[in-house]
Amino acid sequence: MEIYNTLSKKVEIFTPHEENIVRMYTCGPTVYHYAHIGNLRTYIFEDILEKGLEYLGYDVLRVMNVTDVGHLENDSDTGEDKMQKGAEREHKSVYEIADFYEKAFFHDCSKLNIRKPKVVERATKHIDTYIEMIERLLDLGYAYISNGNVYFDVSKAKDYYKLSGKNPDELFVGVRDSVEEDKSKRNPYDFGLWFTVSKFSNQEMKWDSPWGVGYPGWHIECSGISYKFLGEYLDIHCGGVDNIFPHHTNEIAQSEAYLGHKWCNYWVHGEHLNDSTGKMSKSRGEFLTIDLLESKGYNPLAYRFFCLGSHYRNQLVFSYDALDTAEKSYNKLRNKIKKLDRTPDLHESKIDFYKDKFKAAISNDLNTSSMITILYDVLKDDELTDFTKLYLIEDFDKVLSLDLIQDEKSDISEEIETMILKKIEARNNAKKNKDYITADKIRDELLEQGIKLIDSREGTTYEII
Ligand code: AMP
Ligand code: ZN
Repeated sequence: MEIYNTLSKKVEIFTPHEENIVRMYTCGPTVYHYAHIGNLRTYIFEDILEKGLEYLGYDVLRVMNVTDVGHLENDSDTGEDKMQKGAEREHKSVYEIADFYEKAFFHDCSKLNIRKPKVVERATKHIDTYIEMIERLLDLGYAYISNGNVYFDVSKAKDYYKLSGKNPDELFVGVRDSVEEDKSKRNPYDFGLWFTVSKFSNQEMKWDSPWGVGYPGWHIECSGISYKFLGEYLDIHCGGVDNIFPHHTNEIAQSEAYLGHKWCNYWVHGEHLNDSTGKMSKSRGEFLTIDLLESKGYNPLAYRFFCLGSHYRNQLVFSYDALDTAEKSYNKLRNKIKKLDRTPDLHESKIDFYKDKFKAAISNDLNTSSMITILYDVLKDDELTDFTKLYLIEDFDKVLSLDLIQDEKSDISEEIETMILKKIEARNNAKKNKDYITADKIRDELLEQGIKLIDSREGTTYEII
């Protein structure tokens, strides 16, 4: 596979540390609000990358964090604590906010067929790991204590600017422009590893540490969680382009200082989705979420299809017109597939030819639009039987995850349908016996699984929500 590496600014041949195994880390959401569809574009790209690597035969060990503590906007000691801000907005505790929005995030992901990584870890669960790393960074002279906080001294890091490719003067503009400068730091780029003193006196989440009661900086959580679950050598680290500086730059600095060697070989970043104003924002009243798209009647998978139409390294501008066009093509594609004859008649002759083409598209720096073109080529190929086409489409959909093969009656498999019908029958029986507790329990359990029962005079039907 060839993939663009932000570290070298080149498309490179991908070689993992261990043959056939890929250790992959992806920065997770900050759970202070709903994810906007821009955030979700990044998770779609990472999902395709993971599934694409699997299609090529790799075993992917993927880890993702959930930021539920100390994510400050801008640099690590300027701006606002997003979690605290969310809690104040909703008059809830930070823990309640984190629980609620973590669930909401994975709910959105499931609607977009984004698979949950095998390991998902909350930042607040690994405080001991960060403390151990910070202690070592202090021992090694990479970190220093100032006014009660522990900072990483970037002047000690090897090639601090290598990932961003920017020179200190360019970056300095950003630092100078920030509203408040932390006077405890030796130089402007130094970043907080542990805070006991901060302008957030009302910080709810605090832990004991050798430097006093406080909380970790944002960057250390990803270095810590990655090290704990994936070990000393990482193959791929992903995120959106906004993560390159300072977040990933600081992750590299502290991880490599701690480990004493190069940590991750491939840094893969997804470009942003912008709206007509040029930037996605969560601060404006109605921001773009999957729920909002659904409330306007869009199928979330039409949004996934929209994203796959452009390369992950290109900026994408969202508009409802563009989504309408994508949804039309998506529905047309699914209808075409639905009409294919399912009579078993597999012709092997061209299967490898198309699979190889699909693999080549994955290997070509994750070219999703090419993957879709190959799918259309399969549909157009008169030499293929319908059944062979279905076989290939189902195979490609392991990566694309667009639910391209529908059940003839509905989107859910017969097994699930049988299960639901049985539950409806059990509920009807309970109601007949005036056992309303059991009847309600069955209804609520189905609802938890995303199946809503609808009662009418004609009987009970259901809806997948
Ligand atoms: P956050 O929850 O703010 O930590 O962001 C979650 C992920 O979304 C990160 O990987 C960001 O890089 C990414 N991201 C933020 N804004 C956008 C955007 N407009 N388009 C695509 N990805 C984004
Ligand atoms: Zn991260």
